Amino acid sequence: MLNRRQVLHSLATLPLLSSCAVPPQGSARNYTPSGLPLRRVNVSENRIIRTIAGLRPYRPSGFVVKAERMNDKVVVHNYGHGGGGITLSWGTSHLAMELANQTQHRRCAVLGSGASGLSAARLMQNAGWQVTIYSKDLPPNTTSNVAGGQWSPTSVYSRDSVTPGFLIQFESAMRHAYRYYQDLVGPKYGVRWISNYMIEGGEENPSIRYSTIPRNVSTALRLSQSEHPFPAEHVLHIDTMLVEPAVYLPAMMNDFQIAGGKIVVKEFGNRGKGLQLGEPVIINCTGLGSRDLFDDNELIPIKGQLTFLLPQEEVDYIIVGNSGLYMFPRSDGKPVRRHIRKK
Ligand SMILES: Cc1cc2nc3c(=O)[nH]c(=O)nc-3n(C[C@H](O)[C@H](O)[C@H](O)COP(=O)(O)OP(=O)(O)OC[C@H]3O[C@@H](n4cnc5c(N)ncnc54)[C@H](O)[C@@H]3O)c2cc1C
Repeated sequence: MLNRRQVLHSLATLPLLSSCAVPPQGSARNYTPSGLPLRRVNVSENRIIRTIAGLRPYRPSGFVVKAERMNDKVVVHNYGHGGGGITLSWGTSHLAMELANQTQHRRCAVLGSGASGLSAARLMQNAGWQVTIYSKDLPPNTTSNVAGGQWSPTSVYSRDSVTPGFLIQFESAMRHAYRYYQDLVGPKYGVRWISNYMIEGGEENPSIRYSTIPRNVSTALRLSQSEHPFPAEHVLHIDTMLVEPAVYLPAMMNDFQIAGGKIVVKEFGNRGKGLQLGEPVIINCTGLGSRDLFDDNELIPIKGQLTFLLPQEEVDYIIVGNSGLYMFPRSDGKPVRRHIRKK
C-alpha cells in the first residue's frame, strides 16, 4: 500500500492532472474527438475521499470457460478473468450459456454474484432457464465492486502462456461482451461511452501491453502531437465504455430478481457441497474462489489499489499513463489506480 504522499506524487505525474485546476486553452487539441473539453483533474490531498484495494482472479493461460461432468452434475466454469472481468463478463457468460444449452436441462445454479455470475444468470434466464444464484457475498462485497470499470480486456492473460484455442475463445468473448454492453448504455446501468487516452512510450505500459480491442470494431486513433494536449509523443485514443460498478451491479441484481431469479447466501467450503445442490447444471462464477473450490492452482490473486478523489463533473475522459497508473471519472469519485503487484 502507498501512503497518501506517494499517491499524490504519482497522480501529479499524469498529464492533465495537477494540483491546481487550470482550464485548458481553447485549441482543438484540448477537445476530445467528440468535441468535449479536456479539463484538468484537481489533485490535492484534501480531495481524497477513500482508498480501496482488491484482488484480481488472474490465470496466465487466461480465463476458464468449459463444461465438465462431476458426479451427476454438469459444471460449466466461467472464472479467472484477471483485470478484465467486468469487460469480459457478458462475453464469457455467453459462451458458458451456449455450453449449458447443449444439455437437456433448463434449471441451473449459478455460483457467485460478481459481474460474471450476474451476467451468466441473466443470460440463462433469457434463454428460458430457472436460475438460483448461490454466493457467499453479494454486491457491494465482491471483487467486481472494487473494479475501476473501464471496458478494456486488460491483464487477462500472459502471451507466453496462452494456447491458440484460448485466443479464439478470447476474441469471441470480447466481441459478445462489446455488443452486450452497448445495449446497457444509460443511467440505469451506469454504463457510458467515453474517450480514453493512452500515453505510450517511456516506461512500458502494462495496460497497453495486455489490452486488446475487438478486431474490425476498433475505433482506435493514433494522435499526432498537434491533436492532443499531453506532453507525450505517442498517444492512442479509443472510444470505449465506462461501467460504474456501484450502479451496474445492483441494477443487474434487480433485473435478475424481477425475472424470477432466487438468491441464496451460502458459502461452499469445498466442491462436494456445491455438487449436493438440487440443480442438475452448475455454472461456476466464483472468481478467485475457484482456486480452493475447484483446485485451480493456476489462479493468482493480483492486487490493485484505487484512490478516490471528489467527483469533478466537468472531467469526462479516461487517461491511462505509461506506468499502469490511470484515472477514470466516475460519479462516485475519480478512481486512480496506482500499481499492480502480486500478492
Ligand atoms: C483495483 C481493480 C481494478 C479493476 N479494474 C477493472 C476494469 O477497469 N475493468 C475490468 O474489466 N475489470 C477490472 N478489474 C477486474 C475485475 O474486478 C475482475 O476481473 C472481476 O470482478 C471478476 O468478476 P467475477 O464475477 O469473476 O468475480 P468476483 O467479483 O470476485 O465474484 C465472485 C463471486 O463468487 C463468490 N464466491 C467465491 N467463492 C465462493 C465460495 N466458496 N462459496 C460461495 N460463493 C463464493 C463471491 O462471494 C462472489 O460473489 C479490476 C480489479 C481490481 C481489483
